[in-house]
Amino acid sequence: MITRMSQFFLRTLRDNPADAEVPSHQLLVRAGYIRRVAPGVYSWLPIGLRVLRKIEAVVREEMDAIGGQELAFPALLPREAYEATGRWTEYGDALFRLKDRKGADYLLGPTHEEMFASVVKSEFNSYKDFPVILYQIQTKYRDEERPRAGILRGREFVMKDSYSFNMDDEGLEKSYQLHRTAYQNIFNRLGIEYAICSATSGAMGGSASEEFLAVSPTGEDTFVRSTESDFAANVEAVVTPVPEERPIEGLAEAKEYETPNAETIEALVDWANQEGVTIDGRAVEAADTLKCILVKVSKPGTDEEGKPFAPELTGVLVPGNREVDMKRLEAAMEPAQVELASEEDFAKSSFLVKGYVGPLALQENGVKVLADPRVVKGSSWITGADKKEHHFVGVVAGRDFTPDGTVEAAEILEGDASPDGKGTLTLARGIEIGHIFQLGRKYTEAFDVQILDESGKRAVPTMGSYGVGVSRLVAVVAEQMHDEAGLRWPQSVAPFDIHVVIANKDAAAGEAATKLVEQLSSAGHEVLFDDRPKVSPGVKFKDSELLGMPLVLVVGRGFADGVVELRNRLIGEKVEIAYDQAVAEISKHLAKA
Ligand code: ATP
Ligand code: MG
Repeated sequence: MITRMSQFFLRTLRDNPADAEVPSHQLLVRAGYIRRVAPGVYSWLPIGLRVLRKIEAVVREEMDAIGGQELAFPALLPREAYEATGRWTEYGDALFRLKDRKGADYLLGPTHEEMFASVVKSEFNSYKDFPVILYQIQTKYRDEERPRAGILRGREFVMKDSYSFNMDDEGLEKSYQLHRTAYQNIFNRLGIEYAICSATSGAMGGSASEEFLAVSPTGEDTFVRSTESDFAANVEAVVTPVPEERPIEGLAEAKEYETPNAETIEALVDWANQEGVTIDGRAVEAADTLKCILVKVSKPGTDEEGKPFAPELTGVLVPGNREVDMKRLEAAMEPAQVELASEEDFAKSSFLVKGYVGPLALQENGVKVLADPRVVKGSSWITGADKKEHHFVGVVAGRDFTPDGTVEAAEILEGDASPDGKGTLTLARGIEIGHIFQLGRKYTEAFDVQILDESGKRAVPTMGSYGVGVSRLVAVVAEQMHDEAGLRWPQSVAPFDIHVVIANKDAAAGEAATKLVEQLSSAGHEVLFDDRPKVSPGVKFKDSELLGMPLVLVVGRGFADGVVELRNRLIGEKVEIAYDQAVAEISKHLAKA
């Protein structure tokens, strides 16, 4: 296959688009792979579509290899199915809802658990039909709050979603492991550096769940890895080791102090140490103070009268050396929504003294209090005293206040103990490329999927749900594989196997290049041929770097001596090879890759 640049529907841009901040977005637009249509909505131009299709093909091969069967559901779906599982409401603002001309409610599918559970219900009825793995590679819609970085977080995007159905938990575990292996194969073939992290299962419900995160400084997810084991987890999933409870008897009464100018934790610690306050006989540290952050928690759905639930004011307590990590808090509260309390909320309640809120006034006034797991019974804290420029020392959990529950809201710090007890945690950033989870029976029960088991009794199959961000992967590969000059595709996803550039005005060189290109094509290679007349070699080289084919063959000045230049963009190497040997050399190289 030969694509001639003189005729190719492709325009490269000299400058980065103004709205693009991350390299993959900048380069994919500049190199003519994608074009923006609306926020989070992009078109695939011919060269970009080739990459998307190659990634799809890899995903399809690996899904077929584990026995997955491909089908296709519509993206336009009726409300009823999503009503049955509660997701019509629970999915919140991210769901694209629409009405047809008759006023019936529809949605654009954000993921398709409902459809798969109902299709299995309608087609299968005996245990003999199981296990089954079904998948689709399809366009999904989510009205993301912050569409970002081009196709990295789109509002329309391509996902491979698959679903396993098994009669028992052992079978589910098997299907899950099959997917885990398939995902490793996919991401290895794409040359991606990634980590497998245990994850929260979020709004989906269910238990075992892992996320595949591509390592990248531009990632929105922070994950942790242990220094001494293969423990890796999404920050949202890190469970804080709980210290032992301590006896309350004998602990000194809480004492109120005037603390002028102690508005920050740092200043408060300085004040305590100047005042001679000690904790267990040692100097006070930031971790001995208790920060109290006020948030509003909104349950999804509506009350009996059909009104949305009023947001509930809630105090979140974390040790003073840590910030509240909103993502951890949000994950912990899901499906409820969380936002920070506003100035207005403070103004409404006179017992809320900004900067000095402590657990005592909250409990006295009936405000819900959720505490970090370190706030165990018998732990003693320095807290705000609920009046300006005053703090309490020696406020004891389980004596002076009792939290209504615990919450994993405190940020994870580099060096925290690993939850598996081995080593400490280091932090890295990643982009979620895949997610596998054992859903259980939430969806099959919602649709009352009844299957006859071996003994003729009715049983509900258990389900797994597995996603790969196919269009996101195009950006992820670009993110991990680029340099100053442009993209650097691995051979497995490059839009073309080889890019041939004529950099010699001589008619004979042009003819020789054409002949070479034809031979490469006959040998089964996909060739991008820069045959543009009147474009300087400098511009052609720049374009070849920007477009990012891993191999570039230049028919240039050396042609007079019977040599051409083979550039390997992946390892940054240039070698001269004999013109007569070029096709054989390249075929050898491509076969290896
Ligand atoms: P994220 O945390 O990035 O929003 P998610 O948890 O919502 O992801 P899933 O619902 O598990 O993602 O979807 C499966 C896969 O689809 C994800 O692993 C990701 O690769 C991809 N994906 C999810 N949302 C988007 C999006 N807005 N744009 C592109 N790809 C996406
Ligand atoms: Mg999401």
